[in-house]
Amino acid sequence: MFIMKQFVYVSHPSRVVFGAGAAAQLGAEVAGLGAKRVLLISSRARSEAVKSIARGLPVVDVFDRAVMHTPHDVVEAARMMAKAANADCCVAVGGGSTIGFGKAIALTSGLPVVAVPTTYSGSEMTTIWGISEGKMKRTGRDPKVLPRVVIYDPQLTLGLPAAVSAASGMNAIAHCVEALYAHDGNPIVSLMAEEGIRALAKALPVIIGDGQNLDARGDALYGSWLAGSTIATTSVALHHKLCHVLGGLGLPHAETHAIVLPHAMRYNYGAALRAMKRVEAAIGAENAPAAMWDLEAGLGIPMKLSEIGMKRVDLERAARTAVEAPYPNPRKVEFAAVMELLQNAYEGKKP
Ligand code: NAD
Repeated sequence: MFIMKQFVYVSHPSRVVFGAGAAAQLGAEVAGLGAKRVLLISSRARSEAVKSIARGLPVVDVFDRAVMHTPHDVVEAARMMAKAANADCCVAVGGGSTIGFGKAIALTSGLPVVAVPTTYSGSEMTTIWGISEGKMKRTGRDPKVLPRVVIYDPQLTLGLPAAVSAASGMNAIAHCVEALYAHDGNPIVSLMAEEGIRALAKALPVIIGDGQNLDARGDALYGSWLAGSTIATTSVALHHKLCHVLGGLGLPHAETHAIVLPHAMRYNYGAALRAMKRVEAAIGAENAPAAMWDLEAGLGIPMKLSEIGMKRVDLERAARTAVEAPYPNPRKVEFAAVMELLQNAYEGKKP
């Protein structure tokens, strides 16, 4: 059967340095950009570890207040620090939250960002930025925020706790699944998505048993790179939209994506059969939604929205908000079916 159809493929220019010990290349990569005044970005908790990774860099100041959701006032403080220090480059070492600060600075200053990701969020591969003000989060796409260099060093992820690794890794798998059935997907992105699921599905159970397994850590970072690349150029559908709504209720990002994924896959199964077959091939099991649920259950992370702060009374409001604004999804997004999906996710039923 011939399957090629018309499509548009976009690739983003970025330089990736990958491998155990790759962080040692940080100085050479910064010099390669011609940068001489680095603003180092980290979270408070990771500040000392990040300073030691950045030893030898021409650091002019350190912004170690990166927090979740990139709040506007904290972003403004980071931007002012970059300006006052006359920085010519931002080096962000950490998860999606920390990289988000590098992007927010780049958005208004155009400074080049070097990202050293230590989770599986995939943000480093996208032109997507987000800044929150109160309960509202503004997001957008701008080529300026795409990190110019990304250094993936699995050694830096050995200390990532099992629960964070699992949720963040499942979040990356969710990027790949939605890319496989995206209305603006294409065969190249699908290759990356299937391979990303394969790498993560194999690596995550090993990491849960042995966080120090460097090979599994390497495969998980490789999978998250591919996952980030897939959402960089395709549109997300029901799963991510639902999680966005739930995030607005204060639920944690990666855990929410992980819990909702198998249920969103069940919702779309019949309408996205070819994508689901590729997920099954990547995981090596039949019945993609059930197989995804089993994979996740084996990682020991929360399986119910009720366990991560969702209240039953909010289910209906969330379902209504999710169906209000129409968006492309393989299966029509309808209230009753979305409500059932959310109820199942709330109770942690196997799809
Ligand atoms: P995170 O950056 O908040 O990190 C999760 C936790 O892991 C934190 O407690 C952090 O301190 C800890 N951590 C990170 N690296 C560690 C290490 N090496 N060892 C020990 N602990 C470590 O969470 P995340 O899941 O990486 O990112 C989520 C954020 O990224 C969300 O705000 C989301 O909106 C954003 N995101 C953006 C994009 C994009 O394209 N713009 C894509 C995906 C996610």
